Order: sequence, then C-alpha cells, then structure tokens
Amino acid sequence: MKNLLALLVVLTCALRPLAAAPLGETRVANWKDDRTGVFLLMFDDSWPSHWQVAIPELQQRGLIATFYICPGKGEYKVYAQKWESEFADSGMVYGNHTMTHKGVSDLENAREEILGCTKIIREIQPGSETRLVSFAQPGGVGGNWHITDEELAQLLKEDHLISRPPFQGHGAMYHLKTLPEMTGLADKAIASKGMEYLIIHGVERLNATYQDMWAMKQEELFFPLLDYLKQKSDAGELWVTDHISQHKYETERGSAQVQAVAATPAAIRLKLTSAADPELYDLPLTLLTQVPADWKNAAVRQGDVHTTVAVKDGLARYDALPGGPEIELTRAD
Ligand SMILES: [Zn+2]
Repeated sequence: MKNLLALLVVLTCALRPLAAAPLGETRVANWKDDRTGVFLLMFDDSWPSHWQVAIPELQQRGLIATFYICPGKGEYKVYAQKWESEFADSGMVYGNHTMTHKGVSDLENAREEILGCTKIIREIQPGSETRLVSFAQPGGVGGNWHITDEELAQLLKEDHLISRPPFQGHGAMYHLKTLPEMTGLADKAIASKGMEYLIIHGVERLNATYQDMWAMKQEELFFPLLDYLKQKSDAGELWVTDHISQHKYETERGSAQVQAVAATPAAIRLKLTSAADPELYDLPLTLLTQVPADWKNAAVRQGDVHTTVAVKDGLARYDALPGGPEIELTRAD
C-alpha cells in the first residue's frame, strides 16, 4: 500500500508538466509582442543630419526613434520646414529639448522654453491634447538652469511631459565610441529583459563642408548599429521604439491584471485592467492566453477591435487595451 502510494505520487509528479495550463490562463508580456528587451534611440538638438541621414536610414529598416527638437535653435530654424512638414509624419516621435537649448533664467522663462516647445510639437504631431511627450533637459548650458527640481516637476506634470532617462553613460561618441560598446547596450537590454538606450547627436554627412556635433561615422558605426538593432528586432529579441511608448507600456504593465470572466472550449472571456490613468496611458498591452489545444487560430475581439491570430504552442498572442471592453477569444479555423 505504501509502495502504491509512492508510485502514485511519482506518477502524478511526472504527469504534471505534461498537463496543459488552465484554459484562459493569461500572461501580460514583459514588452510589446513578447519581445525580450526594449531599446530606445534618441537624437538630440535637431541637427540637420537627423533628417538628412538618420530618419531615411531608420525608415529603411522599419525602426523608430525619438528626436529631441529645439524649435528656437539656429539649426532647426533654418530647416523648420523639414521638421514641421516633410518629416513630421515619418513615423519618428518628437521630444521636447526646450526651445533654444540655452537653459532657463527663471520660472517665467522656463514656461516659454519648455511649454513653448511642447506647444510646437503638439502642432506638428497632433494627437490627443493630453498625450504624453518625452522631455530631455538640455546639458551644457553653463549653469543657466534657474528653477528648482520641484518647479520643473510641476511644469512637466502640467504639460504632460515625461523625463527621459539621464544622458550619463549613454552618449554616443562621448561615453561610447565603438560599435561593440553600442551594441553591448542592446545585448544588455536583452540579457536583463529590461530597457537600454543610446543618445546620439550628429550623424556623419558625406560631401558636407562641416559635420554636426559628435557625428557618428556612417559605414563604421551608424549603419551597422541600425542593422544590429533590426536583426535583434526581427528575431523578436528587441522592441525598438520611442521613449513614450516604452514608458506607457512599462507603467501600464506594472499594475495590469487579467481576470478570466469565463473559459470554455467554445470561448474565453477576459477583463484586463490597469491602475494607470486611461486618458494618458492608452497603449495596448500584449497578452498570451492559453486556448484549447485544437485551436489553430483565434479570433480576438475587444469592443470594436477585431483580429485573428495564429495559435502557437496552445497560446494566442494579441494586443488589448487595459480598462477597455471585455476581451473575447473564439476559435477561428
Ligand atoms: Zn542637447
């Protein structure tokens, strides 16, 4: 009898890993499309090489980046039409780097420098009035930054701005000079399943009479870096995106909860919630749901949004909006 019990225990334990996870069991992916890590490319100071070289090369590879513009700075003003018309809908996301990059002399001047820049970004790249915009405090302003941290925090909040992570340790050609140092950051994001970023100023311009600040060589650095990121993106290892998308995803995921309302072999119904303010945090999260073993495809519906996804290893992977209507998955073979 004792032996039989022992045998049963062994059998139960041996069988357990073979049993499928409960129907409807759902995991919120760490990053969009269940990619392992996330990488952000950031371009500072609205240098001409950004639209002359960087944006076309990013577009060619299907990558996006954040461009921190200074609409009151000389290099921008000369080519305002490029930033505001030709490249405004290139898929790249503009961030706030203040109007002139000269610092702020007092609170009133800070309102002009910071809120003024956001106003222009919202005109060039319209969206909801309260959509979040990334903010990068300009460096090298010679001590000309005369507002307190509290005053800055208040301005950012009022203007729906989110500070990007610091420049320290992430500047291309300043902190990081070689290709392995830069691709190493991407590898670090994958290894830690976290976020890494590179802040770029100029990119080399061929046949130009002068180069932008800290220009990255095209053939030796910039192109191979983009190729590496594209390869990691294609392999599902990296999500290469803009700062606000990464920030939204991470914030929503932090408090996301999935509740199974019903789970039968015919249909699975789920409720996805998050504590993040739905007006500001409106990015769909990627979910992976256990569906019946014989489903090859799943039809996913959330309110008016319909999609059909292939089922892989019993899991349906799809995007859903936290705080949105109930999610329904049905068989779609
Ligand atoms: Zn700058």
